[in-house]
Formats: sequence, structure tokens, C-alpha cells
Amino acid sequence: MTTFLDRLFDAGLLFETGVDGLYGRSGAFEDVIAAFERLIDRTGGTDGAEAIRFPPGMNRAFFEKSGYMKSFPQLAGTVHSFCGNELDHISLLKCMDAEEDWTKEQKATDIVLTPAACYPLYPTIAKRGPLPATGALFDLQSYCFRHEPSTDPARQQLFRMREYVCMGTESHVTDFRQLWMDRGTAMMQAVGLPVEIDVANDPFFGRAGKMLANNQRDQNLKFELLIPITSTEKPTACMSFNYHQDAFGTKWGLTLDNGAVAHTACVGFGLERIALALFHHHGLDVKTWPEAVRQTLWG
Ligand code: 5GP
Ligand code: ZN
Repeated sequence: MTTFLDRLFDAGLLFETGVDGLYGRSGAFEDVIAAFERLIDRTGGTDGAEAIRFPPGMNRAFFEKSGYMKSFPQLAGTVHSFCGNELDHISLLKCMDAEEDWTKEQKATDIVLTPAACYPLYPTIAKRGPLPATGALFDLQSYCFRHEPSTDPARQQLFRMREYVCMGTESHVTDFRQLWMDRGTAMMQAVGLPVEIDVANDPFFGRAGKMLANNQRDQNLKFELLIPITSTEKPTACMSFNYHQDAFGTKWGLTLDNGAVAHTACVGFGLERIALALFHHHGLDVKTWPEAVRQTLWG
């Protein structure tokens, strides 16, 4: 059976690397992402968000403090390097020649791969001191890493997330989240994609994680915008809308200028997933996409 992934390779939209969930992207694929990002810019552009672009690796100390290893140890990716002397180098090469595991001697660097675009933001903003009473809004985009190899093209190990992050009072950030649920739905409709919004949970690790996931759902802390890509029964999350209450505010010391702890929320667009949804619904050749969709994306 020819899968959607095979068809994407055959059409030259994605390039195989030999690793599941790690693909090269063609110019045509990137052009769809660029066009969709311009649609995001047009939609959110007048909100006055401060744009910041972090690289796809973050400070390991911030990552450790974030608690990511408590919740999602199975997804994390760390950057290790050779830190030895010349003698160590000789044994490294010997080990590689013998096709033994040479990676055991690699040492952790100060960098880990960014798991979600907003992770490096909170400590960066906390360092500035109290936020204005009117809150703050940020526009982020980053490659993110999650160790979940899969042959589903909608589950990649390195993918881009565009995010808006809002910090302020509870009502300020929950209004922001609702605004983007409405905007996200309208944007997907404008590019001819069927959507559904549903309550969701993060993939917390282990038995204790089940409780965290249930709690997140019961409190409506996470919603996802779902679009069928590789399955109609289990549509894929192409956006998520997350309310962190004051958890990040407390953890990072984010305060408002009246001294109150800031509440935070973030909305994320899964850029590869959105491009894949467009290719799945409208065909692998953008020239044959419905005129209204082309008009929305390319004007
Ligand atoms: P979240 O932090 O909610 O898990 O992820 C934010 C968004 O990133 C998701 O709604 C989704 O669109 C995208 N995303 C999450 N995991 C993956 C993945 O494995 N592959 C791809 N391509 N996108 C993902
Ligand atoms: Zn986020």
C-alpha cells in the first residue's frame, strides 16, 4: 500500500533521511509554510506582539528548572559532545572502527534541544523584571525536538512551531486564548480545511502522568484544533491553546507591576502539520489547489 508519506517522497515534497520523523523539505513545501506564516502575521500582526526567534537549542539549566524531565522524559533530546583529550580521541576512533557504542563517552553540553517554542521565553522575560499591568505578548517560532520516531508524517521529531505567548492577569490571558481559538478556526476555514476543537492533554509520562493528564482535561487547560490528515477517526492536532494558570509565573518569578504573579497562555501552530493538512486535502500540486485557497495564501 502506498502511504501518504510515500506519496510525499515520490512528489519530492519531503526527502528521506533514513530516520523516521526526520525529513528534508522541498522549496514547494517551504513555500506553503511561508505563505501560512504570512496569514498568521496578517491575523495577529496588529496585536503588537514582540517578535523573538530563539535557536532550536536552549540553556540546559533553564530546561532543568522547567520540570520537563518530570513530565516528559521520553520526549527530551540532549546535546552531547566529545570533551576528551588526544588519548580519549584515539579510543573513540578505535571504538568507532570496532562498530561499538562510541556515544557512551560523549558528555552533556550546556544545550538541550528546544521541546516547545515557548520554553526559552519565560526565563528570558522574567530577567527583565515586572511586566506592565497591561501584560505582554510575544511572537515566537522555533524548530522543536521530540523523541517520538514514527512513520506518520504528521508526527516528526524535528518540526516548527509558531507561537503567540501572552502574560498578564487570568482574564487577560484566557481572553487571548479564546480569541486565537476563534481566529484559528476562521484561518483554517479560509484555507479550506475542516476543523474541530476539542479539549486535550499533554503526553505526561507514566502512571503519575495519567493523573496530571486527567487534571489538565478536567480544568480545560488545553484545547487542540484537529484536522484529519492521516486518519479521519483520529484527526491530528494542528494547533494547541494552552492555559498554564500561574504555574510558569510562579516557577520563573514572572510578576505584574502590582506585584501579582502573572498568568500565562500560549497558542501554537504546528507548521509542518498545517502544510501536510493542506497537501492532504487539496492535492500534492499547489497549482491545482482551489482558487480561494490560493488567493488566501498567495494573494
Ligand atoms: P503541543 O505543545 O501542544 O504538544 O504542540 C504544539 C503544536 O505543535 C501541536 O498542536 C502540533 O500542531 C505541533 N506538534 C506537536 N507534536 C508534533 C509532531 O510530532 N510533529 C509535528 N509535525 N508537529 C507537532
Ligand atoms: Zn507554548
